Amino acid sequence: MMKDVEYASSLKKSVRKLLLSWFADNRRDLPWRNGYEPYQVWISEIMGQQTQMDRVVLYFKRWMELFPDIAAVATAPEQQLLKAWEGLGYYSRVKNIQRTAGLVLQNHGGQIPEDLNQLLALPGIGPYTAAAILSIAYNKPYPVLDANVERVFARVLDLDQPLKQVSIRRQLQAVAADFLPRGKARLFNQALMEFGALVCRPKSPDCSCCPLVAHCRALQQGTIDRRPVPVQREKKIEIVMACGIILHENRVYIQQRLPDDVWGSLWEFPGGRLKAGETPEQAACREVFEETEFSVSRLRPLETVVHHYTKYRVTLHGFTCRLRHSGTMPVLHAAVQYCWIPLSGLSDFSFPAGHRQLLHRLDSQMWRENSEK
Ligand code: SF4
Repeated sequence: MMKDVEYASSLKKSVRKLLLSWFADNRRDLPWRNGYEPYQVWISEIMGQQTQMDRVVLYFKRWMELFPDIAAVATAPEQQLLKAWEGLGYYSRVKNIQRTAGLVLQNHGGQIPEDLNQLLALPGIGPYTAAAILSIAYNKPYPVLDANVERVFARVLDLDQPLKQVSIRRQLQAVAADFLPRGKARLFNQALMEFGALVCRPKSPDCSCCPLVAHCRALQQGTIDRRPVPVQREKKIEIVMACGIILHENRVYIQQRLPDDVWGSLWEFPGGRLKAGETPEQAACREVFEETEFSVSRLRPLETVVHHYTKYRVTLHGFTCRLRHSGTMPVLHAAVQYCWIPLSGLSDFSFPAGHRQLLHRLDSQMWRENSEK
């Protein structure tokens, strides 16, 4: 990497100039770029993790209408925050946002701190987010290394070692810091990220329109598709689950998950993993009973949905079912509260993605059945 560091140093002036000029002409009109208000930059960075930009913009605008400032986030009911986050996944992020908002109000006079250590002490803010807030909101000289930026450096410098190696990351961090033009961290970091997202894309980079074409070693060496060096992906763990959607007198049973559980505080249909030798239908029956002490019958498959998470591939079999008895009060074993809710009221609750998909299916099935009567 030492040779690469020297090469990087030799072209930093030129790359700075070219990227800043490219950014001036090509920057996207993103709502938090209008004033770089620290609260807005922070929310945009948290939303942007693992999410496509057009979705981030959609969620961001809605979020700012509901929670225009830190005080609004700190005092909002958790369910309202979860609902605004529904569909973005990784729900611990929204809980950390609220905890951080409370701490910022309590300890920092409602202002997102400008100090690295103070930022890192806040829930949900790691080194990347802290550097992004400091540089983009406060224009302080902190480099950001997201996947887009890493890819640009890996290609321009033709780095032939995996970027996850600690020593390589440290050197890359130093190179990125060295590239920052004095007083322009905000612009340069965004230029790098935007350039990686729009031009030096993971697949099919737009080299014919690239302002760095004369400097790009990977282009010269023909190694673009191997830069960054691909890391061996771990095989995802397969999880198969089943759940029961209990229908009773035009209402549906839902329950709220325990707060510290996966998808804590979201609503769901009772269910869980299949045991060895069980069919999905048997598992749905058993899980409903174990979680609520409801006995159910007349199970009908509604839909099977598959969801991918970082480490898991989850297959969820959903069944509609009916109570065997007249009592509608559950004994809760895996939830904090429950509701019997008409279908039309379900949109007020926040669900994990798989359960939300089952809801859409249920909605369209009910609509079809009613229109056929
Ligand atoms: S020439 Fe192609 S690979 Fe190299 S920096 Fe430009 S877009 Fe990326």
